[in-house]
Amino acid sequence: MILDNFNLKGKTAIVTGCSTGLGQGICLGMAEAGAKVVGVDYIDAPETEEKIKKAGGEFLGIKANLLTIDPIQGIIEKTLETFGSLDILVNNAGIIRREDSINFSEKDWDDVMNINIKTVFFFCQAAGKQFMKQGKGGKIVNIASMLSFQGGIRVPSYTASKSGVMGLTRLLACEWAKDNINVNAIAPGYMDTNNTEQLRKDPKRSAEILGRIPADRWGLPLDVAGPAVFLASSAADYINGYTLAVDGGWLAR
Ligand code: NAD
Repeated sequence: MILDNFNLKGKTAIVTGCSTGLGQGICLGMAEAGAKVVGVDYIDAPETEEKIKKAGGEFLGIKANLLTIDPIQGIIEKTLETFGSLDILVNNAGIIRREDSINFSEKDWDDVMNINIKTVFFFCQAAGKQFMKQGKGGKIVNIASMLSFQGGIRVPSYTASKSGVMGLTRLLACEWAKDNINVNAIAPGYMDTNNTEQLRKDPKRSAEILGRIPADRWGLPLDVAGPAVFLASSAADYINGYTLAVDGGWLAR
């Protein structure tokens, strides 16, 4: 049955940035599809845990600050200790800093680049090694952005990092497809989460953005959950290095 290919029963997924927003939506989607979920965040994620457990799913929360790559190996080890294998990695944790490029600080550059691209690469590398050791392939879903495709304004490190995520996704897909490891990305459009709070609070920017979205609404965490489950499932076995826009039609304009 074709729907069985979307089932994640028996799989273990690590999702970073799990406490709120898109990461929480992806965790809930993965759990509902049958996966055991390891949620990583630098703050506690009680709401995510409660929602998953209430629905009968399995969740392990790990507190780790992904501004450095130091916690990655420990997270993989704890995952294996608890659930026995690793099958899916979703690199969702990410931050944004807004300032005119002319005044942009080194710290705002480094913090964003560290979590949004350096940690993403080394988490992919660690998961890739584990997938190869297990010998059954694996799925990686990186969270990109509209600014993987477009320039944007006042977010230079974010645009650099998210453009990098799309390129890195292609490169890793090319190196690892032969090992049955699928590396793909999701590029969310303008979503109603903490990440876009400043934009949504600015009446002029908010109206400009909404006016350009054909779907006529901001996206929600649930909107990325289905595409993430799909790319993490065997229904996506022959999809490699693609960045799927989930944007209410933003890029189609
Ligand atoms: P969010 O700010 O609500 O969520 C980010 C998550 O990452 C939170 O759970 C946060 O606690 C966690 N996090 C932040 N810093 C961390 C750190 N140092 N270590 C570990 N975890 C950390 O924003 P969101 O919109 O849900 O963002 C999720 C991803 O989607 C990000 O990569 C973001 O760039 C991307 N994205 C968002 C939008 C949007 O419109 N909201 C659009 C495109 C891409």
